[in-house]
Amino acid sequence: MALDQPAGSFPQIRGSVCPHDCPSTCALEVEVLAPDRIGAVRGADNDYTLGVICAKVSRYAERVHHPDRVIHPLLRVGPRGAGQFERIGWDEALDRIAESFTQVAARHGSEAVWPYYYAGTMGLLQRDGINRLRHVMRYSRMKKTICTASAEAGWTAGVGRFVGPDPREMAKADLIVSWGGNPVATQVNVMAHVARARKERGAKLVVIDPYRTGTAAVADLHLALKPGTDGALACAVMHVAFRDGFADRAYMARYADCPEALEAHLETRGPDWAAAITGLPVAEIEAFAALYCRTERAYIRFGYGFTRTRNGPANLHAASCLPTVTGKWSHEGAGALWSFREYKWDKTLIEGLDALDPATRIMDMSRIGAALTGDRKELGDGPPVHSIIIQNSNPALVAPDTNKVRRGLMREDLFVAVHEQFMTDTARLADVVLPATQFLEHDDLYQAGGHGYIQIGPKLIEPPGECRSNHEVIQGLARRLGARHRGFEMSAMAIIDETLRASGRPDAETVQARRWVDAWPPFADAHFLDGFGHADGRFRFAPDWAAIGPDHASMPRLPDHMPAIDDTSAERPFRMVAAPARQFLNSTFTETPTSRRRESRPTALIHPDDAARLGVADGAKVRLGNARGEVVVHAKLFDGLQSGVIVVESVWPNDAFEGGIGINALTSDDPALPNGGAVFHDTAVWIRAERAVLPRAAE
Ligand code: SF4
Repeated sequence: MALDQPAGSFPQIRGSVCPHDCPSTCALEVEVLAPDRIGAVRGADNDYTLGVICAKVSRYAERVHHPDRVIHPLLRVGPRGAGQFERIGWDEALDRIAESFTQVAARHGSEAVWPYYYAGTMGLLQRDGINRLRHVMRYSRMKKTICTASAEAGWTAGVGRFVGPDPREMAKADLIVSWGGNPVATQVNVMAHVARARKERGAKLVVIDPYRTGTAAVADLHLALKPGTDGALACAVMHVAFRDGFADRAYMARYADCPEALEAHLETRGPDWAAAITGLPVAEIEAFAALYCRTERAYIRFGYGFTRTRNGPANLHAASCLPTVTGKWSHEGAGALWSFREYKWDKTLIEGLDALDPATRIMDMSRIGAALTGDRKELGDGPPVHSIIIQNSNPALVAPDTNKVRRGLMREDLFVAVHEQFMTDTARLADVVLPATQFLEHDDLYQAGGHGYIQIGPKLIEPPGECRSNHEVIQGLARRLGARHRGFEMSAMAIIDETLRASGRPDAETVQARRWVDAWPPFADAHFLDGFGHADGRFRFAPDWAAIGPDHASMPRLPDHMPAIDDTSAERPFRMVAAPARQFLNSTFTETPTSRRRESRPTALIHPDDAARLGVADGAKVRLGNARGEVVVHAKLFDGLQSGVIVVESVWPNDAFEGGIGINALTSDDPALPNGGAVFHDTAVWIRAERAVLPRAAE
C-alpha cells in the first residue's frame, strides 16, 4: 500500500518516526485503521533504518490502545503512594498546578519550583518545550546527566566534536567493534549494517561487553571484561600498536597532540598489565589487538553502557584514542562513532532561550533523590524544592538510589504533578496526574544520534479520552501563570516550522514531503581530514579535563585505567551491571503484556562457579544488597560473564520485585567524573541465597 492515500479513506499507511530513547530514531510506516486506531508498525526502507525496527515498536498498537492508559486528569484523594485518585477536569488540574507554583514561588522563591523531564519522548518540541516555561518563570534548571553526560565528556575530551564517520559506512568495514553497547537489544538496525558488511566483505564483528549479550552471541570475538576496565583494555591495544609497528606516526604527527608522551606512558601498559585489571586472558587481548591493528577498515561503534561508571568518561576517551594511534580515521569504513549531534539547531523558540537567566540554580537530574531530600550540595544556596512537574520521565523507578528518590517524592510538603501515559511508579506518588498523548497523537520534530536524518512525526490519530500533548499542557500552565513568550501562543507545527527555518533547514512542509533530510557532514569533515574539534585541530591524548568538568582532579593525564570505581570488597564481592532488557526501553514497554511475558521476571545472571559457592540453584531466589538497599530476584546460571560479575537486565517496575523496590535501589547517585553522569553499571553488591526455591515463571 502506498503512502498518502486520500484523506478520510482507511486503512492508510502513514509515515512517522520512533520517538523513543534510542539512537536509531527509526523512520516508520504506520497502518492507520481509523481516525483513532492503528494496526501494524513497520520500518521504512531508508538507507539507515533499512526496513528494520525492533519487535517492541512493531507491536506498538498494544501500547497505543492499552486499556491501562491514563486518559483523564486525576487528583490524589488518599495518602501519597496509596494509589487513590479521583477524576477531575483539565481546568481544575491545571489550576491546582498553577496555584501551587504561584504560592511556592511567592513563599520560597521561583527556584523552589523544579520542572523535571527527560527522554520518554525524544521529539524536540514535546520533550524540550518545558524549558520555555522554566526559563520564562525562572524556575530551577536541570543538569541533564541521566543518559549521555559521561559519554559526552569522554568523547569530547579527545575528538572535540560530536560527529564521526557515517554509520552507513559500517557496511564498508572489514572489522566492526561494538564497544559497550548491545545493538541487538537497543538499536537493532545497526545489526543490518553489520550483516551487510559480513555478507559482502566477510567482515568480522568484535563485541566488548561484560556479558554475552545478544550481540556478543553472534560475534566472532567477545571480550567479556570486568565492568569499568575498558580504559585498561584500550591502553593495551595501543601498547601493541606501538610495540608491533602499527602506530601511524605520520598521522599522529599531523593530527595528535603528544604521541611521544603517549608512547612512553604506554610502555608499562601492555596486555599482561591489562589482563590483571580486565580479567581477560592475555592471549585474547593480543588477538583483538592484532586484529584491530592489522585491519585498515576497522569501525568502532561505541555504546553508552560502558560510560555509565564513575570512570566512564576516562574509559571512552581511552578507547577513542585507538583510531588516532593507528591512523584509521582517514579511511572509508573506519574510525569510530559515539553519537551525532551537529544539527546546529536554533532552539530559541522551543526552549525560550531568549528568557534564560544563567544565574538560575541548576540541579543534577540523576541526583533527584538528593535534591528532594534536602542535600545542601545539590540545592546550593537555593531553597528546598516544594513543587515539581514531571514530563517524559519516571524517576521513582529509573533514577539511581530509588529509596532516596522515593523518600523525596513522598514528602508531604512537596507538590507533585506528573504528566504521563500510564500510572507509572512516579505517577502513583503524584498529587495531580495529567493524561499524556503518545507520539502518534501529536506533532513533533526529531533528530537522531545514530544517524543524521531530520524527520517530522505528524499527528496521525486522535488520542484516547482527554489526553493532551506536553506542548498543550505547557501552554495551559503558561496562561494561568501569566508567563509570556510567543512560543506559548503558537501551534506545535508552527514552532517546528520556524525552528527548522531558523536552523537553516528546509521548512516543515518540505521535510514532511521528503520524509528525511540528511544532516551528516561530508566525508572529509566526518573523518576529520581537516582536523579534530579543538582549536589546533589535533586529537587530544592529554585532554583538558578541567575545561570539561569541575571534578577533574583525579582524571588521568593520559589514557589509563582510572581506579575510581565502586570496587569489590570483602563485604560486597560482586560487581553488578544493570543492563537494558531487550523488550523494554528504560521503563517504557514494561506496561505492554508481550514485552513483560517475553522478559519473564527480574533475573540476575550469575556465573555457575559463584552460584555453586553461594549454594544458589538455577531459578532460585537471591537477595542482592549494599548500603543503599536490597532487592530479591531470581538467579539464572550463565557462563557468559566473569566470576564476580552479575547482570540484572531491567528496568522492571518496582512492584515486579519482592519488597516493591527495583534494581535502582542498589545503584548510586554518585556522579561520574569529571562532569556528572549516572553510574548505573558501577555497583558493588553482596549476594545471598534465599531459602525458598520457586518454580520458573512461564516464558
Ligand atoms: S530500534 Fe530504536 S528507534 Fe528503532 S523502532 Fe526500536 S526503539 Fe525505535
